[in-house]
Amino acid sequence: MGMDKDMDLIDEDGLRLDGRKFDELREINIEAGILKRADGSAYLTWGKNKVMAAVYGPRELHPRHAQDPSKAVVQARYNMASFSVPDRKRPGPDRRSVEISKLMSEALEEIVFVEQFPRSAVDVFVEILEASAGTRCAAITAASVALADAGIPMSDMIASCASGKIDGHVVLDLGKNEDNFGEADVPVAIVPRTGKITLLQMDGNLTIEEYEEAMELAINACHEIYDIQREALKKRYSTSIDSYEDLEEV
Ligand code: UDP
Repeated sequence: MGMDKDMDLIDEDGLRLDGRKFDELREINIEAGILKRADGSAYLTWGKNKVMAAVYGPRELHPRHAQDPSKAVVQARYNMASFSVPDRKRPGPDRRSVEISKLMSEALEEIVFVEQFPRSAVDVFVEILEASAGTRCAAITAASVALADAGIPMSDMIASCASGKIDGHVVLDLGKNEDNFGEADVPVAIVPRTGKITLLQMDGNLTIEEYEEAMELAINACHEIYDIQREALKKRYSTSIDSYEDLEEV
């Protein structure tokens, strides 16, 4: 965002660099329950993003002074692997990962029935293994499936997607070059069943009309993503009973 523009992001046929239409998502695949030792997990690929989410809990929160006697605390930790981006990312937390961890924790706390687990923690670890724009949305989407896979009581999942503006057009789900050379990026997350917005950020500038168009695009896409999330869970729980591998170490 805000970088000098030195490439066309939309061709003469009205298609984007990767051939997508304005309202088209990158391909998303989600697999639930792939880590044996986590209480819940999900592996998600979204375009060139690769994301692993693991959930542990609810369990007693340590240190004790961090406990809340009235509810569980959802502690999300977003981490970008050093090998996930072309310019090696310095390992460890930075301002950006602390910000994303915080917004993830706040969003996910909206859906978990935290009152049922006083003094507990629900830990959500998200590892970005490959990053190519939109990783915070991918992280929230994967984490929601991992929470559901863990069997944690919750009201719904959260689905997340960004929209934005490139070459003067409002489009869905910016890719890396679109994110770098576009005019705006608007990550959104919703609770699909209620429509409640649990994340809304904006990098860049939009008019009010463009903003409304961007919101509509992102919210529609969240419902599409919600279907993919539910399919991943259905797939997981329609096969696990037959799988000896899953039963072996119980
Ligand atoms: N990125 C990077 N190095 C970093 C942080 C980000 O190369 O240290 C890239 C990465 O591809 C990421 C993109 O920049 O997906 C956009 O980052 P942003 O902060 O907008 O978050 P995101 O779109 O991933 O939610």
